[in-house]
Amino acid sequence: MTVIRGATTIKEDTPEEIRAAVKELLGEIIDRNTIKKDEVMSIVLSSTSDIHSYYPAKAARETGFESCALFSAQEPDIVGGLALCIRVMIFVEKNISVRHVYLHGAQNLRKDITKVYSVAIDGPAGSGKSTIARILAKDRKILYLDTGAMYRACALKALQSNVDAADEAAVCDLLKTIELTVRHENGEQHTVLDGKDVSEEIRRPEVSMAASTISTHAYVRMKMVEKQQEIASKTSCVLDGRDIGTVVLPNADFKFFLTARPEVRARRRYDELKAKGYEVDLAALEKELALRDQQDSTRDVSPLKRAPDAVLVDTSDMTVDEVVAHIRSKIQEKI
Ligand code: C5P
Repeated sequence: MTVIRGATTIKEDTPEEIRAAVKELLGEIIDRNTIKKDEVMSIVLSSTSDIHSYYPAKAARETGFESCALFSAQEPDIVGGLALCIRVMIFVEKNISVRHVYLHGAQNLRKDITKVYSVAIDGPAGSGKSTIARILAKDRKILYLDTGAMYRACALKALQSNVDAADEAAVCDLLKTIELTVRHENGEQHTVLDGKDVSEEIRRPEVSMAASTISTHAYVRMKMVEKQQEIASKTSCVLDGRDIGTVVLPNADFKFFLTARPEVRARRRYDELKAKGYEVDLAALEKELALRDQQDSTRDVSPLKRAPDAVLVDTSDMTVDEVVAHIRSKIQEKI
């Protein structure tokens, strides 16, 4: 038997607010614990004494918990306690590893499980970082920050401005004039350069090599790292890149270093680019990846390397699902 707990708050004591809050809370519990509604045996809801316009248990019934036992109770007041708060305990027959869910004002009740945390995923191109990071972020309902996209946007600007990515002084001057932001919609990152969404353009094959070259400059890295640290300080996120576990977030809560054999990585990139309609040559791509690997891992500033405390995962012979399962289990072990 497993008991999952959760709580949320509402703004006003109205039936609509109560229904919406109960629906959201139960939905999040079901999703985050990957359980089915019919596996729930009973649900006990309680609310603070300032909530009386509707029974939370009735609201739960309306959200599709048709047959399980439902109870509503009123909590005695606690001095300094939360106002307009609904709490829940869900009883499930099977044994699962539990994720309790605290939403809105109730997040204050459990700082330990609602604290901002970060997952760092580093590795060379084609090791599977972005695929895995995206799935993981979606799974945990946290942000996915693709840091490579930021270096790519800088490289795109250099290409558009006919500035040689290797010319540090010219690149620095150029970058002082740009406005680079990332925004997130439905879990997807949009990279915006000077007001234009360049998320697709930065994937062009010629941008990759220029990104690797531009990212060797200390000034470029300093600016990008500042932005990445600022984003990660505000919200829980999964970041993928080359220097996340070593430089951007040396204290990341979870660190992984993904790798794969060069020919496997080249093939993945080839398939990815082909699917996007680019004409690419596998042998040329293999050469480019080798060159990028060499440049990324031998540069003076923040070279690509595994942080000593990062879990190494060779994804060469693993499916995406296997890698995700492995990483999930490593995270679970540490929680
Ligand atoms: O990951 P992606 O292939 O999009 O990254 C493009 C380039 O940006 C990499 O080859 C690397 O040189 C650089 N990069 C970096 N540090 C990061 C992310 C990417 O130097 N954190």
